[in-house]
Amino acid sequence: MTHNLDAVRRRLRAGGSAARVWAVVKANAYGHGIERAAAGFAGADGLAMLDLAEAARCRDAGWAGPIMLLEGLFEPADLAVARQLGLTVTVHCDDQLRMLETAPAGPPLDVFLKLNSGMNRLGFPAARYAGAYARAQALRQAGAIGTLGHMTHFATADMPAGLGDQWRVFERATAGLPGPRSVCNSAASLRFPEVAGDWARPGIALYGASPFDGESAAALGLRPAMALRSRLIDVQSLGEGDAVGYGARFRAPSPMRIGVVACGYADGYPRHAPSGTPVVVDGVRTRVLGCVSMDMLAVDLTPVPQAGIGAPVTLWGADGLSVDEVAQAAGTIGYELLCALAPRVPVRTEA
Ligand SMILES: *Cc1c(COP(=O)(O)O)cnc(C)c1O
Repeated sequence: MTHNLDAVRRRLRAGGSAARVWAVVKANAYGHGIERAAAGFAGADGLAMLDLAEAARCRDAGWAGPIMLLEGLFEPADLAVARQLGLTVTVHCDDQLRMLETAPAGPPLDVFLKLNSGMNRLGFPAARYAGAYARAQALRQAGAIGTLGHMTHFATADMPAGLGDQWRVFERATAGLPGPRSVCNSAASLRFPEVAGDWARPGIALYGASPFDGESAAALGLRPAMALRSRLIDVQSLGEGDAVGYGARFRAPSPMRIGVVACGYADGYPRHAPSGTPVVVDGVRTRVLGCVSMDMLAVDLTPVPQAGIGAPVTLWGADGLSVDEVAQAAGTIGYELLCALAPRVPVRTEA
């Protein structure tokens, strides 16, 4: 995590940006454990996440720096907690402005006002941004808001389209308005550091996975923060035509040995990973066979004839097998696999 934070920072600096970094630790730090992330990202300028419970866990873990709530307050009762924990909040809609306008007096909250620059997920549309800003500015004068900044989120920063119109829409809507700016996720931080403004918001890159389809994390100088490992707990010898697993979805074309790995979809391994999904057994790359079960999956031992019960298995994140490669084989993205890691998986922290 520390290495990846440095790598993203170097990329920002190389692109001429002096942006500070919110390390995004939502979804239990993309499955890595939020306390572990708060330690790994000790050098970040702030932590960004979704919910108050995770913010409280970061404070309990000793994180005294800025914490940003990426979706802001969900209901008026959140305000007192946000004030108590000293959080920075996104304000993306009129309801959230009203929560601040009707709140009892209290310490000011730092706010990033969110513009919908074209993704049409969260944020004030460009035509209403100036009005929202005026209301936030009034709250600032009344002492309810401390720092008042601007943010937006890019939909295609990882794709050939790049930022599209969104950067121009953001520049136009915020022109002349004072306050810090925050616009870049991982893809935009790595590809468009020149627009990063005052605060970048990388997530996935900090965990050593790639935000890009055609560019590996290794090529970006990132290192996987998580390795998912298990062992073979059984070996079967198949004859020609013998089937493997539920639904008999794989049949041996000729006699072969298969290994049974203690890892299944209840551990967070994707059930929809088809036969052929890469896996490493005893240091040798091979493939998943048949349907992934709740607690087990089967692998082809043809290229690893020496492997027996107890042989080490890497599902992703080490031995040259990236989570992105496994995700691609399973028709999803590394993000989903990392944040779906199940609580039952024992975690060992290595320095
Ligand atoms: C999740 C999230 C990020 C981080 O995105 P990555 O693609 O993981 O870098 C940044 N900003 C917002 C608003 C987010 O929700």
